[in-house]
Amino acid sequence: MLAGSQPIIARMLSPRPVSTAALRQARRAWKLLHLDSTQARAGAERAIQAAGDDDALAEGWGRLALGFHLLYYGTAAEAARELQRAQASFERASDRTGHLLAGAGIARALWRQGRAHEALQTVLPLRDEGVRVLRHEQRGVLLNAIAGCYSAHGDSAQAFAYMFEALRDAGPRSGHGFDLALHCNLSHELLQIGDYVHALQHVEQGLARIGSVKNARLLSVLWINRVIGLTELGRAGESLADIAALLAMPADPSGRGRMAAHYETLAIAALRAGETALGADLIERAWAQGDTLLPDERLERDTATGLLALVRGEPAEAVAALLPSVPAALSDSTEGLSVRMRAQYFNILSEAHEAAGQPAAALAALRHGQRLHRAQAQLASRARYQAATLQTELLRLQHRLDENDAHRRATERARAELAAMNAELTRQVEQVQSLQQALQQQATHDPLTGLFNRRHLNDALPTLFALAQRESQTMALAIIDLDHFKRVNDEHGHAAGDRLLAAFGELLAGHCRRSDVACRYGGEEFCLLMPRTDAAGASRKVQSLLRRWRAQAFDLAGTPLTGLSFSAGVADTSVAPASPDALLKAADDQLLAAKRSGRNRVGVAAFEPGALVPR
Ligand code: GH3
Ligand code: MG
Ligand code: MG
Repeated sequence: MLAGSQPIIARMLSPRPVSTAALRQARRAWKLLHLDSTQARAGAERAIQAAGDDDALAEGWGRLALGFHLLYYGTAAEAARELQRAQASFERASDRTGHLLAGAGIARALWRQGRAHEALQTVLPLRDEGVRVLRHEQRGVLLNAIAGCYSAHGDSAQAFAYMFEALRDAGPRSGHGFDLALHCNLSHELLQIGDYVHALQHVEQGLARIGSVKNARLLSVLWINRVIGLTELGRAGESLADIAALLAMPADPSGRGRMAAHYETLAIAALRAGETALGADLIERAWAQGDTLLPDERLERDTATGLLALVRGEPAEAVAALLPSVPAALSDSTEGLSVRMRAQYFNILSEAHEAAGQPAAALAALRHGQRLHRAQAQLASRARYQAATLQTELLRLQHRLDENDAHRRATERARAELAAMNAELTRQVEQVQSLQQALQQQATHDPLTGLFNRRHLNDALPTLFALAQRESQTMALAIIDLDHFKRVNDEHGHAAGDRLLAAFGELLAGHCRRSDVACRYGGEEFCLLMPRTDAAGASRKVQSLLRRWRAQAFDLAGTPLTGLSFSAGVADTSVAPASPDALLKAADDQLLAAKRSGRNRVGVAAFEPGALVPR
């Protein structure tokens, strides 16, 4: 039941692909995706041609690179088509890595088409295998796609948590410009939770980095984010230069691409800055995009249209333009509508009512706006811890990149200087590493359940074990594994599984002592350390938890779910005095026995009279 050697075996069994020239070219294109979008596209197209019909692996990587390129520069439908073809090629070549990455891209294409829920359902089943199989920036791409899906779903806390994991995997040297994409995403997410000041800081950091990268799309995203931040802070006038620069960018692969031009966003900024003619022109462009707009973009287009009438001194027309969107903006369940956009809508509706001499309606709209601001603040408070950790990690990454640059420049200047420079660099890297260690120690919690994570258990168990022995106290340990949990995922979806895990975390946290250590041990496995408790006492506690868990009822999108159970194994230091591992193993053996004898029970390791606690 302890996490096994499966990934190692899987790696041993998968054959090493033969590297062809076409495959090498396709992989180069993939690595250039963020660094040089034009070269990446040209390379991908050449690789697909060179691959022909009989090099499925090269074709897969070529199409994967092209598909991700199209996610930025083409339309979502074009990208999805290419990524599906990539997936078919990977299937023929039996390549799981490529298959998983194509799946992540397909999920991104789904939420870019406004299908956030489907996107999440597509990407979450890839997570467990992806985390096992993928390495470095590839794992980062998957986790970043999950972050994007959560963001589109309005769950900023999860979005930040996954971006954080993505960044750790991308690493400073193997990132291939990936950190720049994260600056874009991070600033976007900070805008969503209303932290405009920090959002602008990340835009500036991204802009400082973009000089070394040839990717107009990422540049345009940073500019758009700056326009939003400045407008929300009441400084729309300062965003006019960005608007002009964005409009000067061609809407093709040499510029910002065809998707998500955000004319409606720019229109509101222009109108707020007093540029009525520019605002009117931008609104016309937004309307010309027709049905391709996402729900958020449509609501913002309607908001901008109302604002235009308002600044032209036609409040009755403004109200008439805005009112049809009330039902959509009021509903908390419209897919793809963000709290920020809805709050902006009600604020402008309130201004329009006010100007039209309808104070009661103005007050009602203002109240809706305020309720949404409170919802945004709640979103922010949940996301704050994750956001702070992510920002710290990004800063650290920035440091190391700067140091690497300095290192390179020193090499070019003079070989003699290099030795001294190296010593200094080593010292700095050590410093950064110890900072990283401190950071890792802080990251001791599992974001889904709020419990301690396995890393913390690995630190705490030997310490508490030694303490128990020194003080001649008994310490108990329980391993709990939810029964038939895979069925919950299969029948109700991964998000429902996540909800249950979070609920179990709450149950565990709510019913153990302050001195106990409750951890999420693995997927649906938990570990409870109980100092100054023997196996009998621990068993009573776990039995009581089992009764409570069985009594819980869940409503999973209308489907009731009851009668859940878990199996557990309990042992204490009097039964397994040799080592923390022996204690873990004794509890794990009991868990295995409980599973074998029908689940829904607690196995307890019996005391052997011969065994003595060593002093
Ligand atoms: P058993 O009673 O033998 O323990 O059956 P089981 O289905 O619980 O055990 P199994 O090990 O076959 O499956 C565990 C499942 O838990 C499979 C995996 O997808 C799911 N899981 C692991 N981590 C998470 C998670 O973070 N979220 C969700 N939703 N599911 C998870
Ligand atoms: Mg399990
Ligand atoms: Mg299980």
